[in-house]
Formats: sequence, structure tokens, C-alpha cells
Amino acid sequence: MSRIFIKSKEMVSSFLNSKSLKALFLAGIFISMPACKGTKEEAIDINNALGKENLVDVLVLGSGPAGLAAAGHCARSGFNALILEGNVPGGQLTRSSGVENFPGFKETPGQDLIEAIRVQTEGFGVEFLSEMASNIDFSSWPYKVKTEDGMTIHAMSIVVATGSSPRMLDVPGEQKYYGHGVSICAICDGPFYKNQDVVVVGGGDSAVEEAIQLVNFGAAKVTVLVRADKMRAIKAGQERLRKEEKVVIKYDTKVLEVLGDGEVLTGIKVQDKTSGQIYDIPASGVFLAIGSDPNTGFLKGKIDMDERGCLKMIARSQQTTKKAVYAAGDVEAGRPRQAIIAAGMGAQSGIEAVKFLTEELGLDRKFMSKLSSQYFKGKGAKAKQAASVAAELKHLENRAQFDKEVIGCKGKLILVDFYTESCTFCKLMPPIITELLGEYAGKFVAFKIDAMKPEFEKLVEEYNITRVPRLMLFKDGNKVEDIEKALSKQELKDLIQKHI
Ligand code: NDP
Repeated sequence: MSRIFIKSKEMVSSFLNSKSLKALFLAGIFISMPACKGTKEEAIDINNALGKENLVDVLVLGSGPAGLAAAGHCARSGFNALILEGNVPGGQLTRSSGVENFPGFKETPGQDLIEAIRVQTEGFGVEFLSEMASNIDFSSWPYKVKTEDGMTIHAMSIVVATGSSPRMLDVPGEQKYYGHGVSICAICDGPFYKNQDVVVVGGGDSAVEEAIQLVNFGAAKVTVLVRADKMRAIKAGQERLRKEEKVVIKYDTKVLEVLGDGEVLTGIKVQDKTSGQIYDIPASGVFLAIGSDPNTGFLKGKIDMDERGCLKMIARSQQTTKKAVYAAGDVEAGRPRQAIIAAGMGAQSGIEAVKFLTEELGLDRKFMSKLSSQYFKGKGAKAKQAASVAAELKHLENRAQFDKEVIGCKGKLILVDFYTESCTFCKLMPPIITELLGEYAGKFVAFKIDAMKPEFEKLVEEYNITRVPRLMLFKDGNKVEDIEKALSKQELKDLIQKHI
């Protein structure tokens, strides 16, 4: 079950340190902004914040460890911080089956870890909005951030922590066994494959690292599948891999399918591109290392980035080439993709944002009180209405009701949302489900089930529910989708459209 590890005892501290009090006198001073190549130099004047609606001191894009740590630091320092959660609340960490190296935690499922950080962050007073940023206008300050739902937020500073999206093979079985044998992170999931045969797909530096990690974690045999006739990883890495007795490298090999027994992964079907021969490689795990893409497309042409789309930082800081815009996590090039590193960079970007607000901008409590009526006020009437409707989302009370309303129902797509009262991420789903019930009225029905209710003990066992939220879609009495995490509105919408 989803567990909460940390209950924050710290509340929002609303004082400014003595250094920042000096900033009182800076209010109204113009600050020159280094601009992204090709854009005009602009100026920041704290008075420009006056009269702007939906104002935030710090807007954090992304709700993984980097975004949460950044927002948490800002809120603890007395500033109002809003997180736009993005499409995957909690980010990629929610997909990791176990994290062992986060200080203070023993081996912990990624989702539990992120939930604990989120609870702590909420305790600091950070606001969350289940939205994506669709466009940012840097032509004036405070920066104008448009959300996908059409809301405009005025941000005095921004932390970009939108993470990256791993590239996928797009072959049959890959999605089905994702989290049940298919992994994108050897350092997270590798320890579960001790004495077992595994496969790494890819020929770059990540593939080398993943393979070495798996050897170090005690895998019996690591087969590296390279689609080309050579690897693109650095020579030293390739040499190192070749010296590993447990590693077998297969070149010119194309992955055709991920194989499994319906529950867990059992191997991979491949084709030798030179001979055309198709054969199976038995394995318990398949680790994808075929690259990832930073989620920075919406900033193209606005902030300097490298050819991969990673944001460029100024010297040893989290400051991007745009004034008052910081970045942390996988959007930065050359950092190990680790929750602890992302959280550290997030905290650092929060520190730099606070420094900007206090020391450069001169934002103090007096000025903040002037702005108080303009500050972003929670999720607003629309979200509150959705939440109240969500509270009415129908509960199933017992097994007989489940059999009748879900298994016995014909012609409609039915979502069952298994939750527990203590699960933070579970609370994300009902407002989203309610909105979609409206959009697909008549074709789509949804029910909530409290997985802790004794009436559902057998059902929970039958469906092997070991964590929540767990979302299942049923059609004509058959389960057609089974998801072990919270979904964004778009992700759920895509699934509904697939089956309706
Ligand atoms: P890369 O883009 O460098 O490599 C991706 C690999 O996956 C390539 O071998 C590519 O094949 C292969 N690939 C891509 N798509 C498919 C597919 N559909 N099926 C099979 N194979 C596929 O990604 P990495 O994550 O390895 O590295 C990204 C960047 O991060 C690089 O600049 C790298 O140097 C850096 N990095 C640095 C590290 C370090 O310094 N220690 C560690 C890890 C990464 P092909 O060659 O045929 O295109």
C-alpha cells in the first residue's frame, strides 16, 4: 500500500533573514537581465508586479524530486510557491520499483518516496496545480505562463524541473511489462535481478553504465543489444564492457518484441539484421538505454539549450541564461539521473530563486502585503467545484456491487479507482475522473473502491493490489487496462479514447 513516511512538523516560516532585509532598500531598482541569444535585453522592476493577477513569487514546473525540493525551499523561506505538476505527477521516479540511495530511506518504491517528499512540501505551504505549462512569454516581467487549460500565471521567478522522457522501443509487450521486467533504470531496479539473466538495449554511454551497474548488482548474465554494427559509447566504456566476463554484446540486433507469461517478463524476441534470423533471448529483465529527451520543447528559442535540448546553466549555478529562471534535474546536461541529485539541484535552484527575490528584486514582507490581493489563490472555483463533484464519485460498497456494476455491465467503459484514505496521490484522481465523466457522459462510468475496506479483502487479493492508486478499466466484464500509478488527465483521456 502507499505509505506516508514523513509528517512535516515545520510550518511555513515567514521571516526574511537579516541579509535580505537589506533588499528592502532595493525595491524599485531596475535589474539588467542577460537575455537568451538573439533576444533583447529587458529590465525587471518590482513595481511591474503591481496589478498583475494570479501572481506567484516562484513558479515551479514539474513535480519530481527537483521541483518539490525547489518549491519546498522557497515556501520555507516565506515565499509563495506554486507547482504545475505536469502530465506525470511525481515524475519518472513514480515508475521506479525501488530507490535505495536516498538518504533517510531504506529501499523504497519510487512512488512512496515521492509521496513522502510531496507531503513534506505541502507542509511548507506549497500550492499544486494539476496542469502543464503550454507557453511562457518572457517579453515582459513578471513572466507570463499560460497553462494548457488557458489560465495565465504571472511568475516573478521560475524553476524548470520538467524532467526528461525516456525513449521507448515501441514494440509489442514493452508497455505491458513496464515495471514488471522492463525498466529504464538499472541503478534503481538492478538489485532485484541478482543471479538472473538480463538484457540491456542500446549502444550509448547509458547502455554501458546500465550493463556495468547490472554486473555490479550481481546479475548472472547481461546481454547488450546494439542495433548498429558498432556502439556509439566512448571507447573506454566499450573496452570496460568487453572485459566483463558476464557481458555479451550482440551487434546488428533489432528488438522485435518483449515476451512474458502474462504476469512477468520472460525474455525478448530479436532479429539478427545480417542473417535475418529471428530468435528469443530468455531474461528476467530488459533495461532500456536508448536515450531520453529533456522535456524542454516549450522553451525552444527562449532559453539557451544544447543540441539535445538540455538547458545551459551559468557557471556553477542552477541559473539558466534567462534572468530569474532556474533549472534542476534531468533538464540539465551531464548529471546522473538520480533522485537524490535532482533533489539537491532542486534545493539549490530554490536557494538561488530566493536570493534573486530578496537580494536582487528586493521583495520583502511589506511589498508582499501590497501584492496580497493579486497572489494566486489556490486552485480556484473551477477546481473546488470539480473536487466537490469528485467527492460524489460513486463508491462501491461491497463485492456484490462490484460484480453487478462492473463485471455485469455491458456496452460501457468502466473505471475502477482503488484508493486508500492515507494515499496522497490517490487524491489526484477523482477531480480528473469527474471532469472526464462529464466529457464522455453515457459511455464512461467510474467507481471508487476503498481498498482497505474489509468487504474488499478478497477482491484486493484476487487483483493482486499491493499499492494504490490502482486504476482498472473494464469493458463487457473484462479488464482492459491496469495501471499502478496516478494518471494525468491527458493520459487517462488517451486510455478512454482507446477503448470507447
Ligand atoms: P545516446 O543517444 O547516446 O545513445 C542511444 C543509443 O540507443 C544508441 O546506441 C542508439 O543507436 C540506440 N537506440 C536508439 N533508439 C533505439 C531503438 N529504437 N532500438 C535500439 N537501439 C536504439 O543516449 P545515451 O542515454 O546513451 O546518452 C545520452 C547522452 O548522455 C550522451 O551524450 C552521452 O554521452 C551522455 N552520457 C554520459 C555519461 C557519462 O559521461 N558517464 C553516461 C550516460 C550518458 P544508434 O547508435 O544506432 O543510433
